[in-house]
Amino acid sequence: MIKRLCIIGVGLIGGSLARALKATGACGEVVGYGRNPEALQRALELGVIDRAESDIAAAARGADVIVLGVPVGAMEAVLGELKPHLEPQTILTDVGSTKGSVVEAAKRVFGTLPPRFVPGHPIAGTEQSGVEASFAELYRQRRVILTPDAATDPEALETIRLMWQQTGAEVIEMPVAHHDEVLAATSHLPHLLAFTLVDTLARLEDHDDIFRFAAGGFRDFTRIASSNPQMWHDICLNNRDALLKMLQRFSTELGTLARAIEGGDSEAILATFQRAKSARDAYCEKNC
Ligand code: NAP
Repeated sequence: MIKRLCIIGVGLIGGSLARALKATGACGEVVGYGRNPEALQRALELGVIDRAESDIAAAARGADVIVLGVPVGAMEAVLGELKPHLEPQTILTDVGSTKGSVVEAAKRVFGTLPPRFVPGHPIAGTEQSGVEASFAELYRQRRVILTPDAATDPEALETIRLMWQQTGAEVIEMPVAHHDEVLAATSHLPHLLAFTLVDTLARLEDHDDIFRFAAGGFRDFTRIASSNPQMWHDICLNNRDALLKMLQRFSTELGTLARAIEGGDSEAILATFQRAKSARDAYCEKNC
């Protein structure tokens, strides 16, 4: 389907996409581009890419699809480097966790969101990063959100939709602002909470005992605090408004719970926990 695929930033997400498309025969040659020659060499050895390029012009040449797999804070610089080398047939897409900031970055670089740029975000990942962590099944039965606008080229949109469907994912379209609000609530806020909880505990005086006696609940709640700090730094700053709105809402609820505990208001405490349990049980029935 895609004769030449170029991945810019061959890490967990870009590498897993390349592996999945190769596994189903949905793409021909995969060209990888990145800053780090050793990481690209590893991607070659692992068979994730067929050709490594350290020159972005050579990487982009003849590409049917270019996927931006870099952290969201690096998107604008990479788009700027890519701009002079984009060919008319090439379809551009990205996998960034924030969409408003990527669209704004594209507008700053190109003047408008190019019709053949289809912004995207696979709702799949792990706390690992780098090409070594990539695997072909990452997107199976997961969702991918695309946020095209009215000017998006229908053929480009269809190509990117089919590309993700080949990985086993369900593809959904959504307005940019809605994407950023939903992901602030379901992904960005939980990561922020996990990082903050672990950091708070790690800086307590008796932190050795705290970690020694931590069990399954701690492990489950904090797994995502092992995620890439640079990536999450970029996400926080690039979805600032939606994230701060959710954080404010959460802080208010946490304050209410603290007051209920302080006042021994068992009805309020139980009601909160009961609502949360019902909501999570219903979620898990479909998704866990
Ligand atoms: P990753 O494994 O760390 O891969 C990022 C890749 O980008 C690496 O190949 C890295 O190569 C390259 N890179 C980093 N900084 C760069 C820069 N300034 N300029 C050029 N290349 C750079 O990260 P990932 O988890 O695949 O995440 C990639 C993108 O997917 C991010 O935008 C993230 O928001 C999004 N995403 C992540 C997840 C997740 O759970 N991990 C889920 C959905 C979407 P070098 O550092 O070797 O140069």
